[in-house]
Formats: sequence, C-alpha cells, structure tokens
Amino acid sequence: MMKLVYTILLISIFAPCVLADELPDLGDVSQTVLSPLDEKKIADQIMRDVMSSDEVVGDPEIQDYIQNLGMRLASNGPDKTQSFNFFVVRDNSINAFAMPGGVVGVHTGLIIAANNESELASVIGHEIGHVVQHHLARMLAQQKNDSIISMASMALAVLAARANTQLASAAMTASSAGAVQKQLDYTRTHEREADRVGISILEQSGFDTNAMPAFFETMQKGTRFVEGSAPAFLRTHPVTGERIADVRARVSQSRFRLLPYSPEFDYVRAKILASLNTPSQAVALYQDNLKEKRYSSETAQHYGLACALIRNNDLNGASKQLAWLRSNAPNHAFFATLAATIEVARDNPVQAAKAYTSGLATHPNHRALIQGYAEHLIRVRQFDQAIKFINEKQQLYPSDPVLFELKSKSYAFLGKRLLSHQAQGEGYFYRYNLQRALEQMDLAVRANDGDFYQQSIAEARLNELRKMIDEPKKSGIFK
Ligand SMILES: [Zn+2]
Repeated sequence: MMKLVYTILLISIFAPCVLADELPDLGDVSQTVLSPLDEKKIADQIMRDVMSSDEVVGDPEIQDYIQNLGMRLASNGPDKTQSFNFFVVRDNSINAFAMPGGVVGVHTGLIIAANNESELASVIGHEIGHVVQHHLARMLAQQKNDSIISMASMALAVLAARANTQLASAAMTASSAGAVQKQLDYTRTHEREADRVGISILEQSGFDTNAMPAFFETMQKGTRFVEGSAPAFLRTHPVTGERIADVRARVSQSRFRLLPYSPEFDYVRAKILASLNTPSQAVALYQDNLKEKRYSSETAQHYGLACALIRNNDLNGASKQLAWLRSNAPNHAFFATLAATIEVARDNPVQAAKAYTSGLATHPNHRALIQGYAEHLIRVRQFDQAIKFINEKQQLYPSDPVLFELKSKSYAFLGKRLLSHQAQGEGYFYRYNLQRALEQMDLAVRANDGDFYQQSIAEARLNELRKMIDEPKKSGIFK
C-alpha cells in the first residue's frame, strides 16, 4: 500500500499543474527508476508473447496500416527517441492498450467502432501519451521487481485484468501479479496527461482534434454500439464528463490543418468487418448496406463485399466487385492484392502470377503482394526464384519474420539445411524469441552442408545470439 501512495505522490509532485499547456517533464524521474534499455527489454518480452499469439492479426495490409498510422502519430509526439510497435488484436471489444517500451495494441472492435480515421487516431494518440509519459513503466518500477521478465509478465497481467484480452490471460495466471494489478491502474492525472499529449499529436499530424471529445462522448453514451455494455476503453481509461469538458476546452484552442481524405482507413475497416461472423452473414451485411445506401464510402462497401465473397467462395462475385472498384475508384494497392487473392483461391497459378507481377509493377513496396508472391513461387515449386525474390525485397523489410520463414521453407525444399535453419532462426529472432532463434542457429552450424563462408556467418550469429541471451543477467536490475 505504501508503494501505491508513494507512486501517486510522486506523480502529483511532478504533474501539479493540470491546466498548464506544457507537459510536466517526467523523463528524468522515470529514467532513474527504469532505464530506456530496461523498458526496451520489457517491450521485447511482451512482443515475444504478442508475436506468437493467434489473437494478433497477421494480415500485412491491416498490420502495416496500423503501424504506419501509429508511427505517423508517434513521430509528432514529444519524445522522438521512443521506439514503438503497433499491432491489431482480434478482439471485438472497443479498446486499445499501451505497454512499456512503446508496445501499443489496438482492438479490431475499436477500428470498427471508429467513424473515421481521426477518431481512431485520437485513441492511439492517447495511448502514445501513456507511453511517452512512462506511466505504466514508472508504476512497474515502483513495485521493486527484480527481473525484466517478471515486470513484463506483470505488465501482461495488468493488460489481462484491464482489457480482458485472450492475449494476456495466460500470463495473468502464470504471474504473481494478480495481487498488485489494481495498484497499477492509471490515475486521473495520467489520463489527463495522456489526453493532452494525444491532442497535441492529433493537431501536429493533421487529424481533426474534435474527434477526441466526440469519440469519448459517443463511447460514454454507448449509443453507437450494439453490444449494450460500455466500451472496454472506458473501464481502462475512465472517461468522465469533467474529462470530456477538459478535452473540449483544449481542442477549441487547437489549430489543426486537416489532411486530405485517404481511403485506407475505410478499406481496413471494411476488411475487418468482412472477416466477422459467418461468410454468408458478412456478404449479407454488405449487400444490405449497398441496397439501403447505408454507408459513408460506397467504395469501401464494394471492397468489403469482395472480401466477404472470397470468404464465401463466390469468386466470380468477388471478381465483379473488383471490376466495379477498378472502374469507379482510384487505383489502390489493396485492389491488386484482392485480384491476386481471387486467382489464388481459384487455384489458377498462371493468372495468380500475372496478378502478382502486375500488382508489384505498380506497388513494388506493398508487403501483402511481396509475401503473397513469395508464397506463390513456393506453391509452384520455383524455390530458387522465391529465394531470389525474397532476398531482393528483404532490403525493404529486413526485420519481417514472414519473409525469413518463407525463405527457410524454400531452402528446406532444396535440401539446404544450414541455410534453412539459419533463415528460420532469423524468423524467430524477429518474432522476439531468442531461445528458438538460438536453437535454429545451433542446428544451422551443425548441419554441415554449407561452404566455409556460410558456416562462418552462422557461427558468428550463433555467438551473437548466445551473448544476447546471457547479457540481461549482467544487468543491474537482475538478481
Ligand atoms: Zn488512458
């Protein structure tokens, strides 16, 4: 209990003036308790669980959308040195959460509930506020835990208690943190600070700052949501009438320059909606919306219908929607992925290859097309070409685990064991799983089928991974 009182006291000392426009400088305080490196280590531990979770949406178009949006917002935040990882959690409750070290999760339910991109950005901006003010990290540090791993599992336990998400429920039972999670709830001061950072970020990033109070109010009234229960975001970040008034007052002074409309948000939202319920229900939803003209973006309705039709195995129907999109909407990378996905579902490798190569010609950096084409090349057993293509595209995405995994698969088909294990090891490395990465690199070194050069690279990497695993034990925070 003393610790809790101390935490609140500490926060009140350094954030005494709630109406001041400048933010209290909490950086120095936090860094004396938990260094940026320690926060990064906690973040890596959390990311390992995140990357291996089925709850996390792997679709590269949805993932890249949220990562790009998050990075755009974070780059307009007060701390440019803070690193971030944004991802989408398959969870229909309306929520988002921030973990130490810049790990930010966004529920699919939040994306669906947001009426426009500014509303979504206002919640992400608020979460970035919690990260850059080190709210949770500072509270964790106050718990006098002796290891990064237990702090990471405590952070996940807090997440489980707050967001009730599957992602963290395993960590919840595995950790002794259950008893202290209540002490780690955000205070009203935290919420106000996060709102202030969020508004400033929205303003700087060209979003409508009015979206924040509007969305908070809608959530509070609960009118827009069919589930009946209050959005989970309100439980984890209590929104009061006073807080909304405070945010409104701030927003009225802000001068934002609204950026031009981008269809990406509507397409991502449509794609998520198309993945819910049964395939035929998803198709019916979009057909009804189009019939009743119940939409803000007609294009997004046709895009969503195409995604739902693919799920429902009506590929000719999906093709018709794609044709509508191509003649009625500006060209978009998502349409190219859609075209290729239809041909893959048709099991037509010739047309699939054409769809991928023409899509990549126009959108050479689009990750969904890159991963899809690599998978296609493996499917048609063009392993050498798959490896060549992946090597080329890895210059754009050097830390994408999927590309390493596809490369490993290609090498395995060619019977190249060293190279296959090595690529698999890098795949685990970029899924933050050092132990598995080490095991694979060890197998690579022992495979004995590489030349001198390949052998030396694998050995050097094995040593490097060993050092990374041993190194945290030397850090002062560990026993
Ligand atoms: Zn909050």
